[in-house]
Amino acid sequence: MDSTLITTLQYLWGSGEMYSVGCFLILFIITISEPKSLPKTSDKCRALLGDDLINEISSYQNIKEDIFNYVLEGEFKSKTYDELEKFVDKFGSRMSGSQVLEDSIDYMIKLTQDEDLNDIVTEELEVPHWVREQEKITMLEPRSKNIAVLGLGRSISTPPEGVTSDVVVFSSFEEFDNAPIEDVEGKIVLFNAIYTTYGETASYRTQGAARAAEKGAVASLVRSITPFSINSPHTGSQYYSENVTKIPTAAITLEDADLINRFYNRGEKVVLNIKMQSSFETKTSRNTLIDLKGTKNPEKLVIVSGHIDSWDVGQGAMDDGGGLFVSWAAPIILKRLNLRPKRTVRAIFWTAEELGLIGASAYAEKHKNESHNINFIMESDEGTFAPRGLSMAGTQEARCIIAEILKLFESINASTLVETDSPGSDITVIVQEGVPGASLHNANENYFWFHHTEGDTMNVENPEELDLCTAFWTAVAYIIADISVDIPR
Ligand SMILES: [Zn+2]
Repeated sequence: MDSTLITTLQYLWGSGEMYSVGCFLILFIITISEPKSLPKTSDKCRALLGDDLINEISSYQNIKEDIFNYVLEGEFKSKTYDELEKFVDKFGSRMSGSQVLEDSIDYMIKLTQDEDLNDIVTEELEVPHWVREQEKITMLEPRSKNIAVLGLGRSISTPPEGVTSDVVVFSSFEEFDNAPIEDVEGKIVLFNAIYTTYGETASYRTQGAARAAEKGAVASLVRSITPFSINSPHTGSQYYSENVTKIPTAAITLEDADLINRFYNRGEKVVLNIKMQSSFETKTSRNTLIDLKGTKNPEKLVIVSGHIDSWDVGQGAMDDGGGLFVSWAAPIILKRLNLRPKRTVRAIFWTAEELGLIGASAYAEKHKNESHNINFIMESDEGTFAPRGLSMAGTQEARCIIAEILKLFESINASTLVETDSPGSDITVIVQEGVPGASLHNANENYFWFHHTEGDTMNVENPEELDLCTAFWTAVAYIIADISVDIPR
C-alpha cells in the first residue's frame, strides 16, 4: 500500500467520515490488494511457443519466489550491497592493466571459493595500460580561468609546456565537416554537442580527436557525455585513426564548454593552454569464468556477466561494480539454494571493458568454435537500479520465450522486454555472431550523471535495488538454464 493511501485513510478515520465511506474503502482495499493477473501472451507468441511451453514457463513461479524470498527477505538480503561495498572500499578504481585490478580479480576468486564454488577458470590476455598523470587546462583569454579536465583514454601527452592555441567550437560533425581547413588548422577544436542519447553523443568523444586531426587541429576537447553536471568532467575511450596524426584529447565540463561557446559566439578569442601527461604500455590481465555446472547439458551455457575493470576516476561502484556483483551472486545463490539447472550457469567477469571491450573480444576469439553452446548471454553494465526487464537481441521466437519468462516478474514491475539488435557493451561482440542475449533493463535515468566521473562511488548504489537486481538476475538465469527448450537462434 502506498503512503498516500495510508494518509488518506488516517485523515478519513480522524474526521469521523469513516462510516460513510467504509464500504467503499473496504471494497477498494480488497481490489487493490489482489495480485494482478499475469499479462496476456500475444497471439503471435502463443502460436510460436504453444500452450505446453507457456505452462512450463509459468510453473517456475514457485522457484522464482524461493529465490526472491532468499534474496529480499532471507539470508542473502543486502549481501550484494555489502560485498560490493567491501570490494569497492578495498580496491577503489580498477584500471585496465593495473596491479589493483589483478588484486581485485584474485579477491573475487577467493570470495567465490569461500562459497565452496570451485569451478573457476581465468583466461589471460594482453590489455592496454594507460596511466593518467598531470592534466591541466588554463584559459588565458579572454580571461584567466582553470578548466576542469579529464583526458580521454589513450590520449597522447602534450609537450611539457603544453599546447597553446585558440579554440574553434562545433556543435556537430556536420558543422565541422562544412568548416574550411584553414578555420581548424593549428587550432584547438571543441566539440560541444548537446547530449541526446549516449549512443549518439558518445561518438564526439570516441571519434573527435581523429576527426579534428584530419583538418590539422593541434588538440581536441569534447563536452562531457552527460545530460547533467555539477562541473564534473566525464572521461571515456577514444580511438585514433591509423594514418592520422595523434593529438591530445580531453573532456571538459558542460559548464566550461558552454562558457567557451558563449565567448566564441560573441566573436571573442578564447585561448587555452592544455598540459597533459600520460603513459601507455601493454600488460597481462584475466577474464574470470565461474561455472555452476548443468545437470543434464553442462556444455550448454547461460552466461551472466559484468566487467571488473573500471576507469581510474571514481571507484567503479556503478560502472560496473553493481553488474559484477549481481553476476557473481547468481551462481552463488543457486548453489546455496541447491538449485541445479540443466544447463551450466557461467558468471564471467570481463576485464578491460573500458579501453574497448578487450576482455570480451578475447573471449569471443578464444571460444569461437564453441559459440553454438552459448544458449543465452546476459550482461549488466548500465546500472543496477530498480530492474525493469531485459533489452534483448534474438529471433522472434527467442523473444517470445524471454517475454514469457519476464511475465513472472510483473509483481516487481520488471517484465518489460525491450527489443534491440545490440544489447549491452561487452556482449555485443558475441551477440553479433547471432547468439541471443540481453542486458539488464533498469531504472537508470540518472546513470550518465555519474558515468566515468569521480562521482561513481558507493553513494550511487542502493541496497534494496541491488537486491531486486540480484533476485531478478538469478531467477532469469536459472529459468533459461533449466527450461526444456534451448533459446532458438
Ligand atoms: Zn561499464
